[in-house]
Amino acid sequence: MLTSSRQCRCCGATFAQLLSLACDRPDLCPEDTPQQDNSAISGETGDVLTDDFCRIGDLHFLRCVLAIPLIGADDEEFVLGTWASVSAEDFIDYLDLFDMPETEGLGKRPAWLSNAIPPGLGEPVAGMLNMRSPGQYPELKISETNHPLYPLQKNGADLEELFDLLYSYGHDLASLVYDS
Ligand SMILES: [Zn+2]
Repeated sequence: MLTSSRQCRCCGATFAQLLSLACDRPDLCPEDTPQQDNSAISGETGDVLTDDFCRIGDLHFLRCVLAIPLIGADDEEFVLGTWASVSAEDFIDYLDLFDMPETEGLGKRPAWLSNAIPPGLGEPVAGMLNMRSPGQYPELKISETNHPLYPLQKNGADLEELFDLLYSYGHDLASLVYDS
């Protein structure tokens, strides 16, 4: 079923394409903030949004991914491109080593999920951000056990849970699968 070419009624995207969803900015970053090259984060003062970094007032955010393994599908995972807020110190550490092999040495840092996932859940959610090798986004693992993403990350999601999550973003694939 995962490899089928079923298309979402709302957007025409195939199921495989919907295995990743991306947020282009932290929820706290105003929509009218332009997205700039990464060089702007050190070159400019004040509020800045770049491809991988965001600074809004005293808050510091890094682009990251949040992966949910798919139950029954070898090595397939649902990947949410999202943002995490980190301390100013960790932000600077990561910025200093960005795209250098040493980023991996940063290990895990505490971070807060900075997009409402699923939509409508607005509270800041605690997690740990694993700084990985260059070319790989840091990976966020939710550590709050009562958040809906926690069991999905820990145990994986079955198709029904994944459809529910996609449906919360407006993609109705479940009806296609079960009506046909
Ligand atoms: Zn859709």
